[in-house]
Amino acid sequence: MQKLITSSLIALLTLFITPVLIPIRFIAKRIKRSRVYREVSHRDCSECGNHLGADSLARASQQFKTMVQDFKNKYPSMRINFGRPFAAICTHCDCHYDYDPVEKVIVPTATVA
Ligand SMILES: [Zn+2]
Repeated sequence: MQKLITSSLIALLTLFITPVLIPIRFIAKRIKRSRVYREVSHRDCSECGNHLGADSLARASQQFKTMVQDFKNKYPSMRINFGRPFAAICTHCDCHYDYDPVEKVIVPTATVA
């Protein structure tokens, strides 16, 4: 009887917590994206001095999509969740930047092959 009560309680908690957690995750993702956008729009490239801006975000997004598509073509049966290795790419010199969530700045990273 106690096992039934415990499992029912867990099911009820899951039922009530899930609608709260999903929007929180969505909101956290949006907040991170807006911080990256704000940081990139105020920064110049540390290598060449070119202004990064929204184009560098779009370039990073496009390169990440290409990487994922290449991986899916190479290994069609594998299912892997990728973490994005870079947040922005300089449109002038291909310098890669990643977002540091602790310092809340973008920092140059090693180029991904
Ligand atoms: Zn640059």
